[in-house]
Amino acid sequence: VELERALRDHGHRVTRPRQVVWDVLTGSDRHLSAPEIIELVHERDPSINASSTYRVLTLLAELSLVRESRLGDDASTWEPRHADSVIHLVCDACGVVTHHHTPIVDELARDLDRGAGFDVGAIDVRANGRCPGCRGG
Ligand SMILES: [Zn+2]
Ligand SMILES: [Zn+2]
Repeated sequence: VELERALRDHGHRVTRPRQVVWDVLTGSDRHLSAPEIIELVHERDPSINASSTYRVLTLLAELSLVRESRLGDDASTWEPRHADSVIHLVCDACGVVTHHHTPIVDELARDLDRGAGFDVGAIDVRANGRCPGCRGG
């Protein structure tokens, strides 16, 4: 497992809080705020409190397993490092950030490689607008 290997490589053990926080983050297809993560972690294991959840987030961020992002206007959100290229959809109304998986991002990387001779490391595509819940009728 990626979490286990990354922790061990840096001399850390896999503890229950680390595993639960990781499961919560990887189980979501949108960015979660710290309060949301704390709540979801608490639902899975009531013995894990807010401060241990924060400590785990900080550790996972130091190991580059998760990243903190500020795509919306509101407080920062957290997500696991992207395994593949995604487009970030940022709702201007509710602030939710979701992922849209599409091969277009990989095509864009190939196009930049061929057309601009640019060796692409990462592409961060972001769209602002209204999510399905907020666009209304
Ligand atoms: Zn993301
Ligand atoms: Zn919305």
